[in-house]
Amino acid sequence: MHKLIIGNWKMALGYKESVTLAENLVLSQPYRPLLAEVGVCPSFVALSSVANILEGTAIFWGAQDATQFVPGPVTGGTSLESLVELDCRYVILGHSERRQLFGETDELVRLKLQAVLERTNLIPIVCVGETLAEREAGQAEEKVGGQLRAIFNSVVVPAGREVVLAYEPIWAIGTGKTSTPTQAEAMHHFIRQFLKELGIEGNRILYGGSVKPENAGQLLSQPNIDGLLVGGASLSADSFWSIVFA
Ligand code: PEP
Repeated sequence: MHKLIIGNWKMALGYKESVTLAENLVLSQPYRPLLAEVGVCPSFVALSSVANILEGTAIFWGAQDATQFVPGPVTGGTSLESLVELDCRYVILGHSERRQLFGETDELVRLKLQAVLERTNLIPIVCVGETLAEREAGQAEEKVGGQLRAIFNSVVVPAGREVVLAYEPIWAIGTGKTSTPTQAEAMHHFIRQFLKELGIEGNRILYGGSVKPENAGQLLSQPNIDGLLVGGASLSADSFWSIVFA
């Protein structure tokens, strides 16, 4: 399976900046064989225009979130069905910023995951990760295992469907502090074993948290790191391509 590199543009860019970045990504793609699967997740307002720019290129696109509700009276919501209409390939679920700023819980992430699997063919990218206090207390695996157990509780992953996991230690997101490749590899190995016990196999497990061109290669060389979820360093075409070709 190819490594998967996803750029999460968060709310960092306005509409016009997102369009410019998408255009720059296409224009500056290095003339080298692309061995990884590459995607970007712009904000909702830019998604349609970015999709038009990326259509027919090697770059896929997806959304940073969606509601679990079917289309209807949900003010401010974005339905999974509308993401399918835009030919999204991915939807990120349970990013720690959604949890911290919008109060999303494991149960809500579970409902969203179930909805994605039942109603769409989108690839969900499910985020998990511990806080610094939890890591320092030696509770990182307990926290991540608890999240996985709650999110996958009674969720049926149909044969042939991929659920991508993203391990994003909260203390490493946007802070410049990166998990060492050894720390990240240990957690990825734990996640893979844990999912196996839940009967879920064949997942790509991405690492996210202050990934940069300088550390991407070492992280990607770990046997259980199947790709990267990149925030800040995906906001420039040069740095994103340097990570993809690290
Ligand atoms: C993220 O947004 O998922 C992320 C990992 O951000 P950053 O790379 O900026 O730490």
